[in-house]
Amino acid sequence: VTNRVLAIGECMVELAPVGDALYRRGFAGDTYNFAWYLRRLLPAEWHVGYGTWLGTDAVSDELEAAIAGAGIDTAAIRRTDARTVGLYMIELRDGERSFTYWRSQSAARLLASDAAWLEAQLEGAALVLFSGITLAVVEPEHRAALLAALARARADGTVIAFDPNLRPRLWPDARTMCAALMQAAEVADVALPSFEDERRYFGDATIDATLERYRARGARTVVVKNGADAIAAWDVDEGKARLQPPRVAAVDTTAAGDSFNAGFFAARLRGASLTDALGAGARLAAVVVGHPGALVPAAVDAVTARETR
Ligand code: AMP
Repeated sequence: VTNRVLAIGECMVELAPVGDALYRRGFAGDTYNFAWYLRRLLPAEWHVGYGTWLGTDAVSDELEAAIAGAGIDTAAIRRTDARTVGLYMIELRDGERSFTYWRSQSAARLLASDAAWLEAQLEGAALVLFSGITLAVVEPEHRAALLAALARARADGTVIAFDPNLRPRLWPDARTMCAALMQAAEVADVALPSFEDERRYFGDATIDATLERYRARGARTVVVKNGADAIAAWDVDEGKARLQPPRVAAVDTTAAGDSFNAGFFAARLRGASLTDALGAGARLAAVVVGHPGALVPAAVDAVTARETR
């Protein structure tokens, strides 16, 4: 086990409105946001990679260049000329953001189509993070191969992290989604659910019920995020912990969970206690929700300046 971290999933083209029917192009996606924040938080001796499939067209080249430009390793990016990248547009109506997606044919859906290739990418990593969105976008007939590759890496000593990130629109129905997510939870050492989603689709009465459900599937660490409210966590060696996030005025909660996960693991990989890692995640996420957009360079600067003061 090395100083290598890999996030796997789908990064999309984002079109965000800048007024007068104009859009700014960006690149985003839950697992990519995580990699982006983690790269900025960890010292240079850590390698942070992103694993996905892209097309061979110009926009796929630009996406890969953006990933590389963020300092993220692209060795686990595979290309296919049969498909291209997914796209989403943000629309603003009366100050409310809505999202429209074009991703049903995206190249990222082939992530687990070549099991030997996927296993080779995971091999020897210290940490691999995947999400419920990774699971949802992978073609259904390849899902077992994805979980088998993660289970094999876990058996070899890689820590597997899983953010369930419930997205009912990506699934045929809620039952299928919930069943698939709990199957995925079985390969995870660290589960990072958000209580709001879990309560809604799993019917959890309390935040501890969510925690127990993931613990029962074999996680060694569970962190249940809960928006502005206290986070509940448990670790097999350190026991239970609770942490109240800083109170802030949220303007855009996009990537709150992704940045939290990055802050948490940037601390954890360097030996922080469960409580200290929760604090690091919550401090970063608190700045991220105070700014518009998913990727907020100033948020990383704010927390790292604080740490080195
Ligand atoms: P969520 O996935 O919505 O539960 O949010 C993930 C994390 O982002 C939370 O655990 C908090 O640390 C942080 N967060 C989200 N919303 C807020 C908020 N309104 N104020 C402060 N922190 C927040």
